[in-house]
Amino acid sequence: MSESRPTPDMSPEEFREWGHKFVDWVADYLGHPERYPVLSRVEPGSIHRQLPPSPPQKPEPIEAMLHDIDKIVMPGITHWNHPAFFAYFAVTGSFPGILGELLSAAFNVNGMLWRTSPAFTELEEHVLDWLRQMLGLPKEFMGVVYDTASTSTFHALAAAREAIPEYNVSEEGIAGPDAPRLRMYTSTHAHSSVDKAAMAIGLGRRGIVKIDVDGKFQMDPHSLETAIKKDQSEGYRPFCVTATVGTTSTTSIDPVSRIADICEKYKLWLHVDAAYAGAAAILPEMRWILNGTERADSFVMNPHKWLFTPIDFSAFYCRRPDVLKRAFSLTPEYLKTAEGDKVTNYMDYGIQLGRRFRSIKFWMVVRYFGVEGLQERIREHIRLGKLFASFVEADKRFEIMAPYPFSTVCFRLRSDDASNQRLIDKSNATGKIFISHTKLNDRLTIRFPIGNLRTTEEHVRMAWDVIQKSAG
Ligand code: PLP
Repeated sequence: MSESRPTPDMSPEEFREWGHKFVDWVADYLGHPERYPVLSRVEPGSIHRQLPPSPPQKPEPIEAMLHDIDKIVMPGITHWNHPAFFAYFAVTGSFPGILGELLSAAFNVNGMLWRTSPAFTELEEHVLDWLRQMLGLPKEFMGVVYDTASTSTFHALAAAREAIPEYNVSEEGIAGPDAPRLRMYTSTHAHSSVDKAAMAIGLGRRGIVKIDVDGKFQMDPHSLETAIKKDQSEGYRPFCVTATVGTTSTTSIDPVSRIADICEKYKLWLHVDAAYAGAAAILPEMRWILNGTERADSFVMNPHKWLFTPIDFSAFYCRRPDVLKRAFSLTPEYLKTAEGDKVTNYMDYGIQLGRRFRSIKFWMVVRYFGVEGLQERIREHIRLGKLFASFVEADKRFEIMAPYPFSTVCFRLRSDDASNQRLIDKSNATGKIFISHTKLNDRLTIRFPIGNLRTTEEHVRMAWDVIQKSAG
């Protein structure tokens, strides 16, 4: 070999050495994430300014990269793994999940076909069946892993459109002056990903009908049925309802059983979005939240939200996988295989061909904690949520804004929006906690979700102290 020829990759010895150092770095970081301000304090553009404008022409040492991670990247990180991250929905990239990610990167397999890694396909099928059992969902629900709930809901809506009996959408498309004006129904509190999915499948914003919620922010089934009947009489073609178990703002629970009755009556596809709250259904005492979901056509929940699995991992279930397959299956010559129907080729069940080996990390999470371990942790988060709500209720300056069936509490200062915004900004500026907001009945509302494995009662008490002090 000539002297000038570059080494093809880092040597295994060098990888081992740096691997140990990187694992040490991660262990130190996650051992004490509270050393950092939760919310990044950098100004827009500050990371750009510290990076060279053009790529290095010559190899650089790993030491230099690790140095830049500490100096440039870390200040620009908002620490989602911080135990006092109480914004959006709190998540956890647990250690077993991180080890699973490492293996996934090492295998670097592409799970498009069963034969492109049988273990990929069968592990995905298997762990999604475990999760199905943990959630108490019916046996006929077939699981598919996608990256996010947004992608899962996109596939749900595409399958719902494919299922419309009088059209053959994957073959003929829907276009032209005689095209039916499709309508999809969801509550005013559904996640924006439902709207985006509807826009992506060509419904347009006008094809999305927002149904009113009641005083508890739950979809009103009477309004739903009224809207469907009105649309039918005006020549629209209702085809799908998306219900939410655990809405994003307040974690309210739509009455899925009553919505399922309506879907049955009008022959509409029922999709249930339980991206965050679905995890709670692994508790026997919380299983009721999925009542009615056994009658859904599709369902999504995200282990990367509240089941301690690193982003990304969204679990999608479909009662009618044949329809999902019809919507997305297309096999070019070079991907034809002899296995036929004996196996699952996951490329048939979605828009993407190439797929990451995501199930390995969830497999490791479930095995490391065990179902009972996962249950204990979620139960504790729900207890902490109730404890936090009791602090808010005891302070007359504040009011609770919505029921809190899970681990997320919505509250506000009994004052104007500007005072509430100041409270949020002041609390976040301490670097000790990160809280975010929503609007409920047009009033700025603070959300306080608990969902990180490292969050203890001490962190919740500390956060309340910060919030009280920030209230002035
Ligand atoms: N559905 C609900 C109810 C959510 O709360 C969220 C995000 O918080 C989503 C969907 C979107 O999740 P993802 O980021 O996985 O697309």
